[in-house]
Amino acid sequence: MYIYRKRTVIYNLPPFNEDLLTRESLASYLIRLSNEHHLTVNDMLRNVLEIEFNNSSIVDKKIKLPKYIYENSEAINGFGKYARELVIALNELSSREGLNKLTFLNWKKLIPSRNLLDKKFKYCPDCLKEWNNENKLYYPLIWGLKLVEVCVNHQRKLISYCLNCNEQITFLRGKMVMGKCSKCFNLFFEGNYYQIKEKIDDFQEYVSENLKYLLSLEENHINSYRDNFIANLNWIRTEYFNEELGKMSESLQLPKTTLYEYLTGEQFPSLKRLMHVGYCLDIPTKSLLEKEGKLTKEMVKVREVLYADKKIAKRHSLDEGKIEEKLRIFLNTQVPFSLVDVAGEVGRDRKLLYNHFPILSKKISNNFLEYSKNKTSERRNKIKLEIEKAFQEMVQAGIYPSRRKIEKEVESSIGAKGVLREKELQNYWLQLKRS
Ligand SMILES: [Zn+2]
Ligand SMILES: [Zn+2]
Repeated sequence: MYIYRKRTVIYNLPPFNEDLLTRESLASYLIRLSNEHHLTVNDMLRNVLEIEFNNSSIVDKKIKLPKYIYENSEAINGFGKYARELVIALNELSSREGLNKLTFLNWKKLIPSRNLLDKKFKYCPDCLKEWNNENKLYYPLIWGLKLVEVCVNHQRKLISYCLNCNEQITFLRGKMVMGKCSKCFNLFFEGNYYQIKEKIDDFQEYVSENLKYLLSLEENHINSYRDNFIANLNWIRTEYFNEELGKMSESLQLPKTTLYEYLTGEQFPSLKRLMHVGYCLDIPTKSLLEKEGKLTKEMVKVREVLYADKKIAKRHSLDEGKIEEKLRIFLNTQVPFSLVDVAGEVGRDRKLLYNHFPILSKKISNNFLEYSKNKTSERRNKIKLEIEKAFQEMVQAGIYPSRRKIEKEVESSIGAKGVLREKELQNYWLQLKRS
């Protein structure tokens, strides 16, 4: 083991962390680290990190690191034990300090993990394009939060699929290259991606401003933030709501029982709820978490526009002209979108689109269907070629081209698993055997 370690000391790569809001994520760092070593992420995980990981791990069972990580790739940036141990292993191998800052480890004892991290990888193509031009391509940590849905900088929604192949992306894959889709290997920010400017609402602005503060919290002082929150919330209840729980729960748009649990400290709000409470009272998150006594009655004011009512308000003010305009843009994108995706982007459900814009909706659906069919046959043809190639090679080498062997070969060359389970491909193989 010693000899192995000596041979493979990891390059001490600096992360991008100048600014809190755009600080790099650990998953992004791992991809860059692998790319810098001319290794695939898979090789880096299996041949370098797994060994260190199982050496220093406090977990008893030896784990298969790549498998675990691909299944939970969003969690690498979170605050679970694997995030922590990955930080330790990387530090051990590269002597790089402070990699914990590329995760949410500092929130571990404060913010509940439920609904915190997004399973889907999201990105802003404009940010990536800019950073690529500056030669510093990477993915920021906050894109991994469920709560963060927009790029405030570019006033646009983050995208959660590849604009070229339409596939959803995960945080880490075996052959990931920075800035590229792990399925089709096209750049995320190249070509004609549509440019819909999103109206960034006040709540999202608030989130973005206050995340900076939350990201800066010190792990060691977390307990005091929790105590301060309880004290501050109780102070607000007394000073501003005259002890009236009902009035307070109405103003904060929270069920009474939930609010009660926050007030007694039985439960700490999720990130979204925490932000929401601060937003409704129009005070910075900082004022809720810092020492009691900094708040004054004048500071607190309940907002007129209530965030939780947004959905209902939206339904009333259906701006047909604007939606139609968006639908037309989606109808003309290079890569068609499914109506479900379009509905998500437009912020209305699919049924509503069908009812109000039947012709446009139908067109969008058909386009996508047609596109998917072509993609499927394109994929099948590619696999057929691989099957044929493997088949010929085996025959020439005097090996019987069995189903299992063919599947194994195709999997290792293009990564498609169990291809002969598909009827059409199976028939193709049988046909080869007959000829
Ligand atoms: Zn951006
Ligand atoms: Zn792709």
